[in-house]
Amino acid sequence: MNSTVVTFPAGQVSGRSRIVGTVPVGERHGLVVSETPFHPLDHTWPDQPADRGTIGGLPVADCVTGAWSGDRIHLGADIPARRGAEGWQWLVVHVTDSPLPVGESVELAVDPAYRAALSAGHTACHLAALALNAALAGRWRKEPALDALGHPDFDQTAITSSRITPDASVDVYRLGKSLRKKGFTADGLDTALAEVAAAVDDRLKAWVAADAPVRLDVPGPELTARRTWHCSLPEGEASIPCGGTHVTRTSELGSVTVELTLDEGTTLTMRTTVTR
Ligand SMILES: [Zn+2]
Repeated sequence: MNSTVVTFPAGQVSGRSRIVGTVPVGERHGLVVSETPFHPLDHTWPDQPADRGTIGGLPVADCVTGAWSGDRIHLGADIPARRGAEGWQWLVVHVTDSPLPVGESVELAVDPAYRAALSAGHTACHLAALALNAALAGRWRKEPALDALGHPDFDQTAITSSRITPDASVDVYRLGKSLRKKGFTADGLDTALAEVAAAVDDRLKAWVAADAPVRLDVPGPELTARRTWHCSLPEGEASIPCGGTHVTRTSELGSVTVELTLDEGTTLTMRTTVTR
């Protein structure tokens, strides 16, 4: 079995392919095709949820990442290797309630409205992260790694989880000892939160108004190819490694706003909302 060829990075929501493998998923059935438009949940960094839709007319109840090492297909959290590791074939596994036979040619149809809402949420998530980096830039005493726009990369340095939902995302950052050692000061951040959020919102508003083009750099057709998100913002070309799906221009987002909360002084949560 070869790694699944994926067409979602190009924005595809439908296709036809042949079933090349099956794997039990509890009481359900996991179907592998050679080429699919379905975006599965990633097992290493599960930010964007699985697409919804149908395969061979059957509802896709879930869509997960599988890994084939020659003996059996491992699924999701049970995969004993990092995303894209050598020696494995990386598979999109479409989970259905009824089986379909290997060799059958099937239509694959992704729910386009749900995909569009996840793409909007994902692009907004990346833009909000860059805008947050800019808004917190003055809080670094030492210079850590910089993001593509030249600001200290708070997002990549402090993030613990990122979850995309339709037209929204939630990013959680840890403001612990190790971040302090890297030079970030959270002193007075609790009382400055509204000001930081307003600065993020202002920047997001300008970026949406700029109608900046968004594209994915796709080095290969397989699921785990190291794709990169690019956005040509007025300040420069932003780029972030990314396995998900996106809108094609920032103006499609309509408006993007964030809400920041600080819990126990150590967990910063950014909730990003798109209103298209
Ligand atoms: Zn991403």
